[in-house]
Amino acid sequence: MVDFTALAVPGVQALRPYQPGKPVEALERELGIREAVKLASNENALGPSPRAVEAASQALRALHIYPDGNGFALKEALAERHGVAPEQITLGNGSNEVLELIARSWLAPGRNAVYSQHAFAVYPLVVQAVSAEGRAAPARAADSEQPYGHDLGAMAAMVDAGTRVVFVANPNNPTGTWLDGEALERFIAQVPAETLVVVDEAYAEYVEQPDYPDTTQWLGRFPNLLVTRSFSKIHGLAGLRLGYSVSSAAVADLVNRVRQPFNVNAVAQAAGLAAIGDTAHVAQSVRMNREGLRQLGAGLQQRGIGFIPSVGNFITFDVGEEPGAVYERLLREGVIVRPVANYGLPTHLRVTIGTAAENERFLRALDAVRQT
Ligand SMILES: *Cc1c(COP(=O)(O)O)cnc(C)c1O
Repeated sequence: MVDFTALAVPGVQALRPYQPGKPVEALERELGIREAVKLASNENALGPSPRAVEAASQALRALHIYPDGNGFALKEALAERHGVAPEQITLGNGSNEVLELIARSWLAPGRNAVYSQHAFAVYPLVVQAVSAEGRAAPARAADSEQPYGHDLGAMAAMVDAGTRVVFVANPNNPTGTWLDGEALERFIAQVPAETLVVVDEAYAEYVEQPDYPDTTQWLGRFPNLLVTRSFSKIHGLAGLRLGYSVSSAAVADLVNRVRQPFNVNAVAQAAGLAAIGDTAHVAQSVRMNREGLRQLGAGLQQRGIGFIPSVGNFITFDVGEEPGAVYERLLREGVIVRPVANYGLPTHLRVTIGTAAENERFLRALDAVRQT
């Protein structure tokens, strides 16, 4: 018998794949439940912009044509949005793909990447897949101002001559913690100029804290900075897979060398372009999220359930015990949340902000679960 595991590249041999949230259809199929709600993958409960849906359906008529491999129109719009040149944009099949392209273009065996404990799970995965070394810096304490958040000092201490990439999630998923502009700027200035600093801003549009930085504005000062953004969260286009990075043109050129020529499909490009123009949909999403954060925060507090204060579109709360039973019982109540033990948070669950009705449904389900 051939041992295929032994034949795979070292990183892949030990790779444990990303665990996505359970789809509604899977739950309904497994438990015979109807009208389940999924609050497990930080999707936009408002749905996509109607303008994006219209643009996507127009694009369907030209499905026989390859997409624009260079994403000209979308890049132009994104460049204008961030005040940069189109050559500074790299489009991805979700921002996850951009993270993978970064790993492939900057990491290899003998090189390392630094990220925080409890950071987004895709960082260690893409690092390991190319058999590079991943270094998780200890996070901030559970009783700190940003519980379980990035400790930039601890991260900087792990950077050495072999560090080619540092991943910073701002805000971070699943903690919902964030970094202010002053602290982040000091950190980037401190990192060697040869080390790429990747700031993942997948939830940027939701953050309303005045000290929260838009680091796409710092590219002129930091040639080793790369910022990723996503259409999956605020724009509600997770199903289409669209994300991008903004960096120096030189870094973008290298990242683009490993990109497949048609990685972003034509429907996603059309929908993304329309979504950028729908500022009313973005504003409504921000408003709904602000209210939802307040509703769920108050609901958890009333029930004496601890949670990590979040600026994203989700809240990670502490069940106080191994949460498998609570998770399973919530499923039986028709509510899908997300276990986060694989993030080093063994007693927490993460819930995505839904509509007011969905949030209420989650809180009621939680009451039902806790009464039994
Ligand atoms: C959801 C998420 C992303 C976005 O992923 P896409 O591939 O764009 O859907 C990136 N980073 C973090 C931290 C996320 O939570």
